[in-house]
Amino acid sequence: MSKRDYYDVLGVEKSASKDEIKRAYRKLARKYHPDVNKEPGAEEKFKEVKEAYEVLNDDQKRAQYDQFGHAGPGAQGFGGFGGGGADFGGFGDIFDMFFGGGAGSRDPNAPRQGNDLQYTVTLDFEEAIFGKELNITVPREEECTTCHGTGGKPGTKPETCTHCHGTGQLNQEQNTPFGRVVNRRVCPYCSGKGKVVTDKCTTCHGEGRVKKHRKIDVTIPAGIDEGQQIRVAGQGEAGINGGPPGDLYVAIRVRPHEYFEREGDHIFCELPLTFAQAALGDEVEVPTVHGKVKLRIPAGTQTGKTFRLRGKGVVNVRGRGQGDQHIKVRVITPTKLTDRQKELLREFNAIGGNDSTNEQDSNFFQRFKKAFKGE
Ligand SMILES: [Zn+2]
Ligand SMILES: [Zn+2]
Repeated sequence: MSKRDYYDVLGVEKSASKDEIKRAYRKLARKYHPDVNKEPGAEEKFKEVKEAYEVLNDDQKRAQYDQFGHAGPGAQGFGGFGGGGADFGGFGDIFDMFFGGGAGSRDPNAPRQGNDLQYTVTLDFEEAIFGKELNITVPREEECTTCHGTGGKPGTKPETCTHCHGTGQLNQEQNTPFGRVVNRRVCPYCSGKGKVVTDKCTTCHGEGRVKKHRKIDVTIPAGIDEGQQIRVAGQGEAGINGGPPGDLYVAIRVRPHEYFEREGDHIFCELPLTFAQAALGDEVEVPTVHGKVKLRIPAGTQTGKTFRLRGKGVVNVRGRGQGDQHIKVRVITPTKLTDRQKELLREFNAIGGNDSTNEQDSNFFQRFKKAFKGE
């Protein structure tokens, strides 16, 4: 919900005097006070009025609000004062809420988890199907073992920052036509830590962290597929200020196979057959990722016919069964015929070889021919 303008809330002009603001506030507060007004929404109205008054009745806060509005640097501070009836303190209160609002989440000295890392590996088609033990070398930031992350020479201690006296923050006062405005910013000399390392560790040059190429064992489970990733807990970058390390994500790419294709746990391939094999039937050996398998081709097999080899696909990566291999027949029409072969095919045609297609196909064939002759 967007916040209403404080002047609108009280129903006064921007130029309203302090007395006008006070009168408007008293009138509205009496109207909406929860002890008096039991209508739904009255309490919210009362809080809104109170908040508006608390800002506009204070010269400094009113100046700040006039300059920056709800979206200004003090916005979160203003917004936080809706209820409770606590009186405003000085500007410090606003800043404390502004800076400390996230329960210390912005404290540069607070422990933080290290960054996650991503590493991409490219597997062969079969490696993805059967899994693999990998040893990868990952460049990552680790805690410096010489100084254990402090950045100081062993035996030395960081000193209190002389610029911010250990607070990590610097106040900057500014006189404006509306009064004195205090800006508080992160101390640039100590990056907000309040302490500076004067005697720097020579291993990490005071960073507390070093770049290392770390060898990590990764188990690629059988059945992994393109686009999936494996999380290796705790193998990301080192944590900060004693926080836990991040995780390592191993992203999987899979090289395409010469004649297998994969869709989920199923494997697909084409089987080329000669016209004679398809017409007369045959027993052929077909490749699968699990080795060669004998497949019986029945007589009269058409192009597009699919055979399924149960369980010859991929083991599901989450242990949910196993896929199949699907084999799609493609009948190859011969292109380089000898005279003798041509002669035999003509004879085949002459003795009605093409009438021996099954009834359904034959009917379709006849209708097709008629359509083109316009009969
Ligand atoms: Zn170091
Ligand atoms: Zn400092």
